[in-house]
Amino acid sequence: VDDSVAEDMARFEETFKGISRRFRLINRIGEGTFSTVYKAEDLNYHHYQNEWDVDEKSNMKWSSPPTKRQAAQKKHKARFVAIKKIYVTSSPIRILNELELLHDLRDSESVCPLITAFRHQDQVIAVLPYFQHRDFREYFREMTISDIRLYFQSLTTALRSVHEQGILHRDIKPTNFLYEPLHARGVLVDFGLAEREETDWHQCACGYDPQDRRARIENSVHSNSFAAATNAVPSYPKVDNRPSRRANRAGTRGFRAPEVLLKCTQQTTAIDMWSAGVILLTFLSQRFPFFHSADDIDALLELTNIFGKKRMRETSLLHGQVFETNIPSYSENGHGFEKIILWCTNRSGRDSSGRRVASLSPEEQEAVEFMERCLECDPARRITAEEALKHPFVASAV
Ligand code: ADP
Ligand code: MG
Repeated sequence: VDDSVAEDMARFEETFKGISRRFRLINRIGEGTFSTVYKAEDLNYHHYQNEWDVDEKSNMKWSSPPTKRQAAQKKHKARFVAIKKIYVTSSPIRILNELELLHDLRDSESVCPLITAFRHQDQVIAVLPYFQHRDFREYFREMTISDIRLYFQSLTTALRSVHEQGILHRDIKPTNFLYEPLHARGVLVDFGLAEREETDWHQCACGYDPQDRRARIENSVHSNSFAAATNAVPSYPKVDNRPSRRANRAGTRGFRAPEVLLKCTQQTTAIDMWSAGVILLTFLSQRFPFFHSADDIDALLELTNIFGKKRMRETSLLHGQVFETNIPSYSENGHGFEKIILWCTNRSGRDSSGRRVASLSPEEQEAVEFMERCLECDPARRITAEEALKHPFVASAV
């Protein structure tokens, strides 16, 4: 632990009265936009352990595995914990939202459970079991297709349990899915941006109604057109007095689904499946981050490069937006993922007759097929977490 971290921990112990009676801080393990996370030892642990030992013994006597409830209880008793110190600048509503959702998800598979939370004056801390994991950047290039299958089995299991509760995570990305390749297990963390899916399926302002695709498309054709993405002045309306649309755009650049970029006001759990698809693209292309956009318009243009102008026009229309670009290099139909992956992994060489030398292995092709189901531009057609677990790419993980 270097001096500045030791100093920071000492300050935390000093200002958060009483914390050292229960926890011994070990290290600082994360510093994000909304919080600082410390690894600590729960000094009450030995008390819990005895309690659990009794249970465990009785289980052995009956020679049956622990019940779901017992397993869940054990999950909440950890010797090493992660203490998430939420920045005091976060709004109380935001903090409450995160803690409430974590509480609702306490027994969900592959979701890091909340052990408890404390407040001292304006400071709130959340206590989670510490989960041993490796930094994504260290292992993403080394993963074989079989390893990637296991990663997605774990990630989609987590997403299914979150989505089952009608919750959108909104910020699926490698730093929020703590994965240990050695055990092929991961847990989902960081519900700071998560929200409950809207339950009344009235048609939203942008014409997106997940239950009626046809009505939605017709409606969007007749609705006001918004210029969604344009490269330069010529096609952009100079005088535009329509009110600007407000929609939740929370999340991380590069992982946002098209409907988030297009400000759809009725976003569903499908946005998380898109982000999972971007993670898979990262593995297959061995590029992290894959998308580098500076803003949402840039991000739409990056997608145009891949999916082509035609698909982007159709996607924009779903949300009542008109997509136009005058950048000549974008093709009408985009580039296939096979070409992109071969190019990114330096396998795009051609022989003297201009034929491509390398092609994707059958395993990679299966991965691409699954990825295309996640990176489906229309959220209504995108694969769900439940379906993903049955997809051959994920279901055959061993
Ligand atoms: P933020 O909202 O600031 O992004 P996170 O909840 O994502 O906060 O936590 C930030 C980082 O702290 C994570 O990326 C991870 O490295 C570490 N971390 C969070 N929770 C745990 C945990 N339960 N076990 C181990 N490390 C954790
Ligand atoms: Mg995070």
